[in-house]
This record gives sequence, C-alpha cells and structure tokens, in this order.
Amino acid sequence: MEYEIVNACIVTQDRLIPNGSIVVKNGIIHSLNPGGPPAGKRVRLNLNGLYVYPGLINSHDHLLSSYLPRVAPSKPYLNWLPWDNDLKSSIVFSERQQLEPEQLYLLGSFKNLISGVTAVQDHIPHFVQDPFVNSMPVRILNRYSLSHSICSYSLNWGDGPKEEYAKALKDDLPYITRIAEGFDSESRDSLKTLDKLGCLGEHTVLVHGVVLSESDIVLIAKKKANLVWCPEANLFLYERTTDIRDLIKHRINVCLGTDSSLCGSLNLLEEIRSARKFYQNEYGEDLSPKTLFEMVTTNPAKAFRIEKELGNIETGKKADLVIMTRNSEDPYVNLCESDLNSIRLVLRDGAPVYGDLSLESFFEESGAMVEKIRIGEADKYMIGSPGNLLESLGISLGYKKDLAFFPAQKEFDNFE
Ligand SMILES: [Zn+2]
Repeated sequence: MEYEIVNACIVTQDRLIPNGSIVVKNGIIHSLNPGGPPAGKRVRLNLNGLYVYPGLINSHDHLLSSYLPRVAPSKPYLNWLPWDNDLKSSIVFSERQQLEPEQLYLLGSFKNLISGVTAVQDHIPHFVQDPFVNSMPVRILNRYSLSHSICSYSLNWGDGPKEEYAKALKDDLPYITRIAEGFDSESRDSLKTLDKLGCLGEHTVLVHGVVLSESDIVLIAKKKANLVWCPEANLFLYERTTDIRDLIKHRINVCLGTDSSLCGSLNLLEEIRSARKFYQNEYGEDLSPKTLFEMVTTNPAKAFRIEKELGNIETGKKADLVIMTRNSEDPYVNLCESDLNSIRLVLRDGAPVYGDLSLESFFEESGAMVEKIRIGEADKYMIGSPGNLLESLGISLGYKKDLAFFPAQKEFDNFE
C-alpha cells in the first residue's frame, strides 16, 4: 500500500517539521517533505496538525507476565529472588497460570500498542517467545543474546555470559542482562564481575542498575555500554532506583522500560511520567522532555542495534509511527504529558494497527483486519481479535477480570 500522511507536525530526533508530509510505500518511509502541494495520486491521511512521532520502543518488558495486580508483600526486597518467591506463591500468580502463554502475550502486546509502543524488548529466553514473535500485533525485538542476571543465583538463561557475549559480538546483537539489582554483595559487585568476564562493551545492555556505584557508572561510560532504566518497578520493589542524573551526566545511552506489569508501570507513557516525577523529587530539577523522548526512540534503537530500521522518522526506515493529540506546542513536553487518550493512530510497517473510529476510511483502504473495541471511554479500531481475547479470558478465569493496562470492553458490551 502507498499513501501520504499530510498536514502533520513531524517529530524527529534532530528537527521538527511543522506542516510536513510523509509518503509511506510498502511499509517503509519513502519520503519526508516539509510541505507544499502533495505530488501524485495517493491515498491521503490528513492529520490537521497532529503530532507524528516515531513508534515508541519499550526497552524492558516480560510479555508472559502481563497480569495484575502487582505483588510485593514484603518489600523492599534484598534482590529479585525473594520477590520472585513471593510472586510464585501468590494467588495472583496461580490465577495467571490459568491462562495460556498466547493469551498473556496478546495482553502484553495490546498493553503496549494502545500506549503508542510499536516495538518491545521481551526479556526472556528465545524458546519462550519464539512461538509468538511472528503473530503478535506488537513488534517483538527478537535479535539478542542474554543472561538473566550476573550472580550465583541467576536463572539459567542462555549459555552463560561469556558465550552469550561472544554471540553478540559475532552476530552484532545486543547482549542483555539485569545488573546491580539488589543490596547483597553479589548484586553490588555484579557490574565489576561482568567486566572481569570481558562482557562489558558497546553490545552490552544493562537492565536496572539499582545499586550502581559512582565508579560503576564511570566504567559503563568508558566501555560505552547501554542501560535500561525502569524507575517505577525499581521504586516498587526496592524503594530506590539508579543515580540516573549521574548516568546522563556521563553521557551513557539510557533507555526506558516498563518492566512487567506484575511489578512495573501500566504502560510506557505512565513510565515517562513516573521518570519525570522521580527526577524532579530526587534532584529538584527537570529531566529534559527531549531526553525522555530519546529514551523511548533513538536511544533504544542504538542499544538494540536496530538504528538502521527503527527509532526515528527518516527516509528508508520502517514506517512505525504514532500519531498523538497536540496539547502542547513543545512536542517533547506533549509526549511527556500524554496518556492513553492521546493516542490517535498507531502504524506498524506502515499498516494501521490501532486508532480512532474517525479514521474509518483510512482503515478500510488499508485493508487491515481490525475490529472495533472500546478502550477506556473511546471506541477504537484494533488489529487482531481483542474481542475474542476478552471472551477467552472470561472463560479461562471464570469471571470478568479487570486489567488496568488494557481497559478494553467489547463494543456494545453495555447493551447486551
Ligand atoms: Zn524485568
């Protein structure tokens, strides 16, 4: 399909195009124009000045854990292990176990899509996510090597740090691991342990870093490793998070992630707001909205080594885009103040996957297999079969479960 988005306020990493147009051809951004009369005969989508952002990237999630409510009966935790034990012995966990992995992956996908996230890093061994990668509505970033964490009680994911890091170098993948996530000595030493193993470099993506020391941060900067920050989950489980100001000061490539809904935020937009609030409370100053924008677009594209394809609006990149309501003249402030109601349209590979009913003709012309669903107070089109999912959840659980990260109702439910 070929079409042109016109009258758009296009937000890219290095410039703002206030009255621009984007030609999308075969799922790719074919051209980016500053304005003027549109050329050629194409389907046109007139945005009347709405913002177009690159599709957001959620840098840390566990789609299999897309469930609620959050569990942490004995927080703050020493490290992830006692929390994991609490979780696995909780009623919430046994209820979640009644669902099929596919249902949970769909919930996680919809959770991300409705918040403008088009790509997600699902931290889990490949064999768990592989069956779902090609069928999920959201893009699962599946090129990576990994460890669970760097400690003697780490889960046995991957082939071990050295082997996984070697794979990353060989195939130009990110090597992803949790780090410094706890107050025990192994967690505190984990960054230096990783470095001693020779696994700290540009391919390394560190997640959390709750207890990173000043010298750890200097070392991460020196080795040009990347860090994923999940403030909401860190504060929930440990009542503290990393020294983000120091990380930014050292120009470390920082990305933002929600973590799983069983300990983190409801969605990436909420995570952005939490991050901003935390920074203001902790340091008494503002975390720049532009920096936050980069943490969910260009920075993860760099960390996950997908810069050529995703993370910015540029000719030749995949047309993963999100169109949002315009409430502020500053596009970065606008993003930081957005919520689920701000999302008007989400495009993945140029195809509409979620959006307003007012875009009916565009959805029709695209041929996308969407259905109508109510999200919060608004009726929307959504790819896949969210209605079937809701129905199947009711059957599996035996009651109508409310999941705040996916506030969906089958259309006309009210009238049945
Ligand atoms: Zn996690």
